[in-house]
Amino acid sequence: MNTALQLYNTLTRKKEPFRPLSAPNVGMYVCGPTVYSDVHLGNCRTFISFDLIFRYLKYSGYKVRYVRNITDAGHLEGDRDEGDDKFAKRAKLEQLEPMEIVQKYTLGFHDVLRMFNTLPPSIEPTATGHIIEQIEMIQEIIKNGYAYEANGAVYFNVEKYSKEYNYTILTNRNLEDMLANTRELDGQDEKHGRLDFALWIKAKPETLMRWPSPWGVGFPGWHIECSAMSAKYLGEEFDIHGGGMDLAATHHTNEIAQSEACSHKQPAKYWMHTNMLTVNGTRMSKTAGNGFLPGELFTGDHPLLERGFSPMTVKFFMLQAHYRSTLDFSNEALDASEKGFRRLMNAVSLLDKLVASESSDFEVQPIIANCLKAMNDDFNSPVVIAELFEAVRIINTVHDGKGKISAVELSHLKKLMNDFVFDIFGLKDEDTSNTELNSVLDLVIDIRTSAKENKDYATSDKIRLGLQSMGIQLKDSKEGTTWNKI
Ligand code: AMP
Ligand code: ZN
Repeated sequence: MNTALQLYNTLTRKKEPFRPLSAPNVGMYVCGPTVYSDVHLGNCRTFISFDLIFRYLKYSGYKVRYVRNITDAGHLEGDRDEGDDKFAKRAKLEQLEPMEIVQKYTLGFHDVLRMFNTLPPSIEPTATGHIIEQIEMIQEIIKNGYAYEANGAVYFNVEKYSKEYNYTILTNRNLEDMLANTRELDGQDEKHGRLDFALWIKAKPETLMRWPSPWGVGFPGWHIECSAMSAKYLGEEFDIHGGGMDLAATHHTNEIAQSEACSHKQPAKYWMHTNMLTVNGTRMSKTAGNGFLPGELFTGDHPLLERGFSPMTVKFFMLQAHYRSTLDFSNEALDASEKGFRRLMNAVSLLDKLVASESSDFEVQPIIANCLKAMNDDFNSPVVIAELFEAVRIINTVHDGKGKISAVELSHLKKLMNDFVFDIFGLKDEDTSNTELNSVLDLVIDIRTSAKENKDYATSDKIRLGLQSMGIQLKDSKEGTTWNKI
């Protein structure tokens, strides 16, 4: 097992050696999507980052139980327990049942993550499937004196909790400042304290998703689902809890409070947060309206896009930044990633063609050691990519007959590429994964090129649009026509 791994813990604000509670088992919980609409590329960045972490932990010899939930109830539009229910609003808009909305966008989320070649989590529990567990947890919190009922709702008492525990442990904010910056309660408010948050919300007559509870008919607050489901599947104390950075200040802060108020234990040893994907410096989000859908990115069908980019190009673009750095989206950056990714894949495809010599001009072990060192340093994928391009240079030099490589070094080179490019990064070669498809497409592209030369644009358009409807995009350039899957 790998004992050299260091990871950044938001709880302590420093890098720490990774020491799981009961190695080789590792419990990891990551907050999943709220499935009332399509996931945007920003959401994908967070899930791709945790896929890298999941893959590397497995590669390092750990047996990981990775739990990633689906939020399918209890998410209101406002972050102060107010506003419309997002699912009900969407259901009205699309004239569907709320659970049809949940099903539609859960399937869409899975499709997108499959295109990015991420591994499925070990367990994917839903909030609606764990109402009883949430009610039981709320009862325990009330019994322990950290929550109160008011008119069919239940609120968490932040003031009482913060006298005994550190409510701002994740963000190090000052509680007085937080209070000063939080709107005063108006006379109608049932909450006792300004920072109190809902554990259970009373159903309004028009509320569609509702369940009976000891406090009347209603639905759970957003935060309680993750506390209840992480405890159920990973225990009261587990190793890693993750999500996007935007979740630390409220959602994760409240999760820690709920878990401690219930079991008197801080649930996760390591809290990990991924940084945001931005567009012109602004966080990509559903509400800001700058959220590209992955499908739009693959087809190029968006005003900010100059053309389409394939899923692996986009994934490679993301891996070129460290998961704790912001990453700004731009056409130029994606152009560069596409070139880099093709160079990497071309080199990988040359590996089997290289002929070993008696002696070697290159040593591959130091590159492997540097890659491991970079991954052990808080999953530093950009440094690994720089090292992989060193390997690309070796492959191309040997292929061009300008250098020699021995059989042993060649086998190291193959292992390096196999482990890091495919196992740990989860990349795949999009163009050569299916040789039959390649041959058929070569033929179809030839026919289209001839049709164009004969000015038979009806046929050439028919081929292009027909392929597009099958999920294959053609790209014409001076060098000829290429294709990618969309
Ligand atoms: P949501 O469906 O909004 O609850 O978000 C699902 C996950 O995506 C959460 O972990 C968020 O923190 C994360 N997320 C949201 N916006 C971005 C972004 N622009 N970049 C990276 N992650 C994001
Ligand atoms: Zn959560």
